[in-house]
Amino acid sequence: MKIHEYQAKALLRYYGVPAPRGEAAATPEEARRIAGELSGQVVVKAQIHAGGRGKGGGVKPAATPEEAEEAARSILGMRLVTHQTGPEGKRVHRVLVEEASTIRKELYLSLVVDRSRGKECVVLMASEAGGMEIEQVAATAPERIVRCAVHPAAGFSPFQARKLSVALGLAAVQAKQFAEIVRNLYRLFLEKDCSLIEINPLAITEKGQLLALDTKITFDDDGLYRHPEIRELRDPEEEDPLEVAAKNAAVNYIKLDGNVGCMVNGAGLAMTTMDLIKMAGGEPANFLDVGGGASSEQIEKAFRILSADPKVKCILINIFGGILRCDRVSSGLIQAAGKMEMKLPMVVRLQGTNVEEGRRMLQESNLRFTVADGLYEAAQKAVSLIG
Ligand code: ADP
Ligand code: MG
Repeated sequence: MKIHEYQAKALLRYYGVPAPRGEAAATPEEARRIAGELSGQVVVKAQIHAGGRGKGGGVKPAATPEEAEEAARSILGMRLVTHQTGPEGKRVHRVLVEEASTIRKELYLSLVVDRSRGKECVVLMASEAGGMEIEQVAATAPERIVRCAVHPAAGFSPFQARKLSVALGLAAVQAKQFAEIVRNLYRLFLEKDCSLIEINPLAITEKGQLLALDTKITFDDDGLYRHPEIRELRDPEEEDPLEVAAKNAAVNYIKLDGNVGCMVNGAGLAMTTMDLIKMAGGEPANFLDVGGGASSEQIEKAFRILSADPKVKCILINIFGGILRCDRVSSGLIQAAGKMEMKLPMVVRLQGTNVEEGRRMLQESNLRFTVADGLYEAAQKAVSLIG
């Protein structure tokens, strides 16, 4: 789960990591009031769950409360397009109005779970080349980003902080602040079950203070049951409505960009099905795992989610009937498709117990089912139906 910058900064402050004073506003008038209370230069920042806002016109400086109101008026309600939002952009419902800092240098700092080492651990990444060009740095000069793995039992050691400080070229005063910041971030990371904390930029201000000017925090969904206070920070407006519907229906669904809708039981089989659609020259519209049960109710919910996506032109159903017999699956499919008067063509590939009976039922129904034998054949049929 992702949260907004203003929420993430409140968490940072709670953990003793310095971040600018500021408050979120939903209207231009509110932005003006907050700017008046902060006094002096402020920055008005679009709050969306995506980075790259600066380049997209979502971060504006303001010298007076009137200017802050103007900036908020131009940002609120806009569809902000950045390299992380996709071409359709994201609607801005809130801005953060915060104190502006005079920046001497922008650093990059992040903590992330590294799953590539065979043993999972938190890895710290830092760079003296922080700010809005960090993606560029990662692509062209990766040696400018230093990494350091934290041993889960030993924790983060002062030695590691010194090593990173040296790599960042920090002076002694900042090195001390840096060690404190990293120690606190690591504590936040573990205590709240984060999967990512990114501070970019971590600014060195004119006065030589380290300050988190931007931050992004992502939490591990599987740990959220332990943190009701974090769950409260969820913003459903930022989530895909179909993914929210799927979550409520207990269906594992991730929306993608293609036009072949997939309904599969089992995550592994779902991934394979997506690969085969690609191999057959098509594009999957989603990942969808109906789970082991695949009752007619569950199938109906899945059908509704798939057909609510206007891009979907055909549905590929790939079910392996093990404990759940194929004839039961077919009866569920027929019932659900009939009840909701499914208009889309459906290709069904069934395997497992009572498969003959299951196929016969589909063929004899007068619904738009095309029955396929093999996996690849099913993918090819689905792709050809799109034309
Ligand atoms: P994004 O990463 O989405 O582009 P940032 O919050 O990093 O958004 O803002 C972009 C840039 O704007 C930063 O790299 C920094 O230079 C500047 N900036 C952001 N917040 C402040 C602030 N409070 N004071 C001064 N400059 C800021
Ligand atoms: Mg940033």
